[in-house]
Amino acid sequence: MTTLTRRGFLGSLPAAAAATSLLGQQKRTGQPKIKITDLRCAIIGRNPVVRITTDQGISGYGQAESAKPYLKPMVLFYKNYLLGEDPTDVERIMLKIRRMGAFKPWGSAVSAIEIALWDIAGQAAGQPVYKLLGGKIRDRVRIYNGGYRPPMKGPTPQDYADNVQMMKEAKEGFTLIKMAVGFHNPAMMSAIPNMFYDERRQGPPHSDRGVMTERGLDYVVSCVQAMKKVLGNEIGLALDCGPGWMIKDAITFARACEPLRITWIEDILTGDYTPYPNAQLFRDLKQATSVPIHTGEEIYLRENFKDLIEMQAVDVIGPDPEDVGGIAELKWIAEYADIHGIAVAPHGIFDGLIGLAAHVHMAATLPQNYIAFECPFGQPEWWYDIVQGLPDPVIKKGYIDVWDTPGLGVTFNVAAAQRHLSDEDRGFFD
Ligand SMILES: [Mg+2]
Repeated sequence: MTTLTRRGFLGSLPAAAAATSLLGQQKRTGQPKIKITDLRCAIIGRNPVVRITTDQGISGYGQAESAKPYLKPMVLFYKNYLLGEDPTDVERIMLKIRRMGAFKPWGSAVSAIEIALWDIAGQAAGQPVYKLLGGKIRDRVRIYNGGYRPPMKGPTPQDYADNVQMMKEAKEGFTLIKMAVGFHNPAMMSAIPNMFYDERRQGPPHSDRGVMTERGLDYVVSCVQAMKKVLGNEIGLALDCGPGWMIKDAITFARACEPLRITWIEDILTGDYTPYPNAQLFRDLKQATSVPIHTGEEIYLRENFKDLIEMQAVDVIGPDPEDVGGIAELKWIAEYADIHGIAVAPHGIFDGLIGLAAHVHMAATLPQNYIAFECPFGQPEWWYDIVQGLPDPVIKKGYIDVWDTPGLGVTFNVAAAQRHLSDEDRGFFD
């Protein structure tokens, strides 16, 4: 039998009954009967995984992006703020810790903790997390592909066309595909000489920026045209573009994309790992083109979306629940965007399978400005062997069915997961 790390606590009571009795005790006494006893973090694969334990045997899990294996000390920094607190009062805990985070990557620890708290709150109530966020308005949630990436054969427009052809034929049945172009695609930026006037920077990705040459801009447009020809109007094509473009190049590019009916142009000016939203510049771009303009994956907290939303500076926002401060935070922002006529398409490619579960519960509750979330994949592949509770297959015809099990509704197969723990993290599941 598989060892579960949660549920089955309180002797042999089923989780829902146990939770009912737990909440009953709270009601009678007015005192919290569930307390946080520990905050742990293990690096599994490359994903920081957060585990919050309680005195009632319930554990909650959260996860941060696989791009951030260095995050463990930042997660553990918050431990003393959590110990002894009632994990079902998520907001009270968030008041203590959210002020000590920042734009990507430094909001991730707070975000993963928030998600783990909702996981506990759901289990304690015997309800799926989406119920605690206000209840679902859809039974299945649309995803978009930013993660299934067949290898590229070369850098020509035809190679890009062949690549999206494979995505079009994928078993997941994607209805919306996002491709990296321009400064977000270092291979594209090195494919021909003189793509832009400055020189390529060495080191971490996406650090280039500058003024495009006419030749460079034409090449990017030709790749987009080739991809769109394959996808037609059956499958949407979104473009992750930067950051790093200058405003005039961005306008020229967006106008060239207008006949192609691109779903959105993402982060072309600022964005991924840029610690400021630059709303005024985005507003200038948005007003110059009919192509929807998208940004926001790096932004931490609702306050930092205020200018983008109130100035109606973009058409779509894409916060990542593992960077913005969590799933309730993202829902608040999506609701505020909705009343300003702005759509939402959450970022999530590196959020892992625990993150996937958080996305599904959140997306089920988002308002009708919801487009799709960027579906994380289990990477490496063995993640699918250590997490259980997800539908099989996860994605059907470009959607994921929303499940009803308490909390996030996913658990670790501890015996299998322990094989992937480092010596330092050996006690993570104890
Ligand atoms: Mg992006």
